[in-house]
Amino acid sequence: MQTLAYLDHAATSPVDPRVAAAMQPWLEERYGNPSALHARGRAALAAIEEARERVAAALGCAPAEIVFTSGGTESVNAAIKGIALARKLARLGSSVVVSAIEHHAVLHASEWLERFGCARLVVDVDGRGVVDPDTVAATLRPDVGLVSVMLANNEVGTVQPVREIVAAVRARAASLGIDVAVHTDAVQAARWLPLNVEEVGVDALSLSAHKFGGPPGVGVLYLRRGVPFLEQISGGGQERQRRAGTENVPGIVGTGLALELAQRERQSNVRRAAALRARLVAGVRQALPEARLHGEGAEVLPSIASFTVPGVDGEELVQALDVLGVAASSGSACASVSWEPSHVLLAMGLSLEEAVGAVRFSFGPETTEAEIDAAVAALPRAVEMARAVVSR
Ligand code: PLP
Repeated sequence: MQTLAYLDHAATSPVDPRVAAAMQPWLEERYGNPSALHARGRAALAAIEEARERVAAALGCAPAEIVFTSGGTESVNAAIKGIALARKLARLGSSVVVSAIEHHAVLHASEWLERFGCARLVVDVDGRGVVDPDTVAATLRPDVGLVSVMLANNEVGTVQPVREIVAAVRARAASLGIDVAVHTDAVQAARWLPLNVEEVGVDALSLSAHKFGGPPGVGVLYLRRGVPFLEQISGGGQERQRRAGTENVPGIVGTGLALELAQRERQSNVRRAAALRARLVAGVRQALPEARLHGEGAEVLPSIASFTVPGVDGEELVQALDVLGVAASSGSACASVSWEPSHVLLAMGLSLEEAVGAVRFSFGPETTEAEIDAAVAALPRAVEMARAVVSR
C-alpha cells in the first residue's frame, strides 16, 4: 500500500531539497578531513565554521558556544551528563531537576547520573501537559545544579514556559545562594518556536537536525560560555575538546542551512501548519466525536495533534492506519519486552486505558490538505479495525 499521508514528521521529516543540494558536493568531490593541513582539509574546516556561524546566528549566541554532535539524543546526554558531572567534580551541586514529560533521552540520562550520586528530582505537570515554573523553582535545594525542561513536548506538542521557568529558577537559586544551570530539549521546537537563547535564557539547548529539514545523525548543542562541562567523547579534541571525532562535514553543512531556513521561514510554516491542524482537529471531531484531543487549553505546537480514542489500543490503531496508507504514531513506546503506555499521558493524569489509546499526527512544511483529508477519511475504518483486534 502506498503512503497516502505521512503524518509522522515529529518522528522524522524529509531533508529539505535545498539542504540536500548544499550537502551534495561535500559527499562527493569536496572530501577532506577538517583537521588536515592541506587545501581540501582547510576548505572542509571553513565549511564547518560557516555552518557554526549560521547556527549561532539562528540561536543568537557566539559560534564558539555551538557543539555539533550525532543527534538530539547525544546533545541531550552531553548536556545533562556533561554539566552534572563537571559540577560534581568541582564540588558544586549536581542533582538534576527534570519534568515528568521529558523525552527518554533526558529521563534516562538523568537516571544514569544517579549511579554517580547525582539525585534526580522529577516535577509533575498539569492535566494539559504543562510544567509550572513555580513548582520547578520550589523543587530546588542546595544540592541541585541543573534543571532540564523541554521547550515543546514530542507526544502532545505542549509548549513549556521555559523563559518563565528560567526566571523562577534564577530567583529561587539566588535566594538559596546557589547557581543552577538550565538546559532545554528544543528538539521538537526548531521549526515552530523562536530559539534565541538570550530570550529563552537557558545555559544549554539541544537540537536534532532531522526534525527541521536537515539530515539524520546530526545534532546541535548550545553551551553557554563558562558553564562547567565534562566531555563524554574523548579523542582527537575536535569541537574545542567538547566532542571528539572526525566531523560529519556534509551533515554539519546541511544542518547549518536547515536551521537558518527553519528559523527564517518559521512564521509562514507556523501559519500553514496551524491551518492544517485546525482542519485535522475539525475533521476528527466530526468523524470520531468520542476522540479526545490532548493539550487543550494550553499552547501547543501547530505541528502536533494527539488524540485518545476510547476502547482502542493506539498501536493497533497506528497499524490499521498504516494498512490504509496513513503514517501516524502512537503514544506508547516499544520497550524491549512489552508495550509501555506513554509516560507523558500518564503524567497528565490519564488512566492506563486512556494512555494506551493515543494516536499522534504530526506535520511538516511538506504536509498537504489532501494528506489531512486522507487521514480523517481513514480514521473511522481504522478505529473499527483496531477495536476488532482488541475485542478478539
Ligand atoms: N528530544 C525530543 C523531544 C525528541 O522528540 C527526540 C526525538 O524524537 C529526541 C530528543 C531525540 O532525538 P534523536 O532521536 O534525533 O536523537
